Amino acid sequence: MRNDDFFKHFIGNSLTYDDLILLPQFVNFSPNEVDLSTMLTDGITLNIPIISSPMDTVTEAELAIAIALQGGIGLVHYNMPPERQYEQILKVKRFQNGFVSEPFTLPPTATIRDVVEIRQSEGYSIIPITADGTPRSKLIGMITKYDYSTFSEEDLNKTVQERMIDVEELAIATYDELSNDGVFDLTLANQRLLDSHSAALPIVDSTGNLLFIITRSDLDKHQNYPHAAQDEQGRLLVGAAIETWPEKAQQRIEVIGNDVDMIVFDTSQGHTQYEIDLIKWTKQHYPNLQIIGGNVITAEACNALIDAGADVIRVGMGSGSICTTQEVGGIGRGQASAVYECAKVCHRRGKRCIADGGIKSSSDIVKAICLGADAVMLGSLLACTSEAPGKTHIKNGVLLKEYRGMGSLKAMEKGSSVRYGIQTSSIRIAEGVSGMVSSRGPISKWMPMLLQGVRQGLHKLGLPTLGQIQEKLASNDILLERRSEGAKREGNIHSLYEVGSESYASSCSTPDDTVTKRVPSKEQLAMN
Ligand code: IMP
Repeated sequence: MRNDDFFKHFIGNSLTYDDLILLPQFVNFSPNEVDLSTMLTDGITLNIPIISSPMDTVTEAELAIAIALQGGIGLVHYNMPPERQYEQILKVKRFQNGFVSEPFTLPPTATIRDVVEIRQSEGYSIIPITADGTPRSKLIGMITKYDYSTFSEEDLNKTVQERMIDVEELAIATYDELSNDGVFDLTLANQRLLDSHSAALPIVDSTGNLLFIITRSDLDKHQNYPHAAQDEQGRLLVGAAIETWPEKAQQRIEVIGNDVDMIVFDTSQGHTQYEIDLIKWTKQHYPNLQIIGGNVITAEACNALIDAGADVIRVGMGSGSICTTQEVGGIGRGQASAVYECAKVCHRRGKRCIADGGIKSSSDIVKAICLGADAVMLGSLLACTSEAPGKTHIKNGVLLKEYRGMGSLKAMEKGSSVRYGIQTSSIRIAEGVSGMVSSRGPISKWMPMLLQGVRQGLHKLGLPTLGQIQEKLASNDILLERRSEGAKREGNIHSLYEVGSESYASSCSTPDDTVTKRVPSKEQLAMN
């Protein structure tokens, strides 16, 4: 059936990804030609339609950097004070694809102990030394991990001045000599860095004040990640979550609002006066800040948030892998129905939409974007990566990562009870659970596999770009069918005596035995 006819036929049914199947159409290109770039707002284009969920076992700086290097964007969670969230954002922004614009700097009077502390807490092993210790003052030297020893107390107490390489002996360059028509030429700078045989190249202005540095490790990453999602200045894109508690939200936006690319008002029910007022306030005070509104699942709610000024709408309620909202309150909607209806409204209004929750495989990503989503938001499919902040465990020889709902009791203790509007309640019923997912290793390996699955799906549908998907949806040309129970059984692996262990590793899906959606008992809901 054609898309509009299909959803009209099943009106009143709460359909989800597993309930439907897409039919193939004529193909005249190869899977590798599928272009997954997507315009999220007028100012933000992603090279892959992937957004990491603002959850405390999913997105902090390390994962946000990794996902942006792949071409997506990470949204840093808010279970931390605004100042710490700001540091996380700066970490992503400082990690530039090729150069570091806000390097950690020290004055010459600092000690080697200070240098070691920065290396241990922030991971920076190259520190420029400036006259007053701030990033924009006169460069007087540089210290790297090869310039000091951490073994003796005496060495640790030495000043940086005693161990640093003096500016006269350093390979440095001025901004002007590496620029063409006033635009900094990274290729030229990279060549200069290679020729210098040093670990880093400080770039200074004509008076010798430090501007930024280029490092060898960033150079290598630049070459490995040609599709990184960047802002106009070449810095990685990053977003952050904001609670919908008016005073706290405004305070948080005041701390991070000038440095973050987008914010998401993170609440399980976004169709509220609080969120509408906050969107209006933000647009008035930070007109250039891009806003994701949500979470919503109805046309009426999309219209209300768009009227308030939201740039993108986040769709999903009760569908997350760790979510118990449907069981606790009987509220929610199948993601296929929710995404289809909300995406239609968003596109009619010239806005975009994100399908959030319930994505467990590359096939769900294909279905979400063929139902109109401009991007998908992932929780469990990213909590399983090395860069996610959840702790790693080994159980029966299997490497696992902790993953929990922001509505689990443990997460709510850290602040996210506001997501469920129960921050002042004396009794709290969890709307999420804590669990483990099997580890998938680094994002640099996992994400290309997941996306190759998406490319292969879109290839069979004859849809080489997300723009063409939108056109086909608008002309009622996406073909869908409802899957019978038999069709679901047939579509899964069947009739085999044994399944090779490599199958799951390459199938871009989550094996059922590692992430299972549980129906918790009343005790579990209260105790989790
Ligand atoms: P997943 O990708 O299926 O794991 O779902 C992740 C999504 O679930 C998030 O982006 C949130 O929208 C939602 N979510 C996060 N924590 C909770 C919770 O505790 N209860 C209900 N939904 C949650």
